[in-house]
Amino acid sequence: MKQIGITTTVPAEILIAAGYQPVDLNNIFITDPDPERLVRLAEKAGFPLNCCTWIKGIYGVCLERGIDTVLCVTTGDCSNTIMLMEVLKLKGVRTIPFAYPHIPDPKLMQPVLQELAAILGTDLTAANRVRKGLVESRDMVHRLDDLTWQENRITGWENHLWLVSSSDFNGNPAQYTRDVKSLIAESQKRKSFPETNLRLAYIGVPPVYGPDLYSYIEKNGAHVVYNEVQRQFAMPDPGKTLAEQYANFTYPYSIFDRLTDINRQIAARKIDGVIHYVQAFCHRAIGDIIFKNGINLPILTIEGNNDFRLTAQIMTRIEAYLDMLESRRRKDLASSPRL
Ligand code: SF4
Repeated sequence: MKQIGITTTVPAEILIAAGYQPVDLNNIFITDPDPERLVRLAEKAGFPLNCCTWIKGIYGVCLERGIDTVLCVTTGDCSNTIMLMEVLKLKGVRTIPFAYPHIPDPKLMQPVLQELAAILGTDLTAANRVRKGLVESRDMVHRLDDLTWQENRITGWENHLWLVSSSDFNGNPAQYTRDVKSLIAESQKRKSFPETNLRLAYIGVPPVYGPDLYSYIEKNGAHVVYNEVQRQFAMPDPGKTLAEQYANFTYPYSIFDRLTDINRQIAARKIDGVIHYVQAFCHRAIGDIIFKNGINLPILTIEGNNDFRLTAQIMTRIEAYLDMLESRRRKDLASSPRL
């Protein structure tokens, strides 16, 4: 199967129907044993120091792996992708722009999907067949997500990793499904996280830290039971058609649509606090203003750049934040009426 690079979650069903294997360039970048190398490659090519690390990493992956076709999301993800696309073109990479509609309306999504299918030489009938074939993979990862917050048996990192990997199913949906199933089976033999642990939400773009952030939080008596964007990548609300599925996907649209979804999950998952991760030089960081205004819980905003490991300063801020949540919870318990 010919590989096609993707810069974020896109309608993978269409790519697969057209005979491509989608490869999420972000996932390849961040799981590389030496991601700094890929960033350096981009900086050597002239990407500025004050450009987002993810963009530079994607560029590095394309060049190093010789990815010759990339589907670039130009509306609904990242404004930097437009210039990334131009530079990739300069390097001889075939780039295909893809723009999510400005509002999440299946009637607007339908022609966008049809156009993408036509460009890639397939149609939506074939893509819908692929969609049916992916139901089990998506069901399994949602089961894993449920186990994270309902039974406290899945770590925040595992939750993150398998949800975020559903953008391309690690290149092999059948193997992906088997891997998630076996993690679920293994988790049933584990002890649950203690009920007394603080329950956290992680919102914002995926972090550059690998497992560090989640394991540090867990070491300090808390558990991430909700990864917002990662869960959206796994299409939690597939609707009845492909157009509905990608209109229900909140990430490309207004932050207020994301806020509604976040607040619903915060209530269902009984969340105590929210970590908002922002990437240095990312326009999405401005959304912090809206989250702080629209989420009725203390929010810790942390910014990552190109460290790839938690810094001492961030560790201290996390510890202080968890202490604050703990004393807040104690106060709430003390003031709640005794039965
Ligand atoms: S973190 Fe922000 S700037 Fe970086 S690729 Fe993602 S959306 Fe773009």
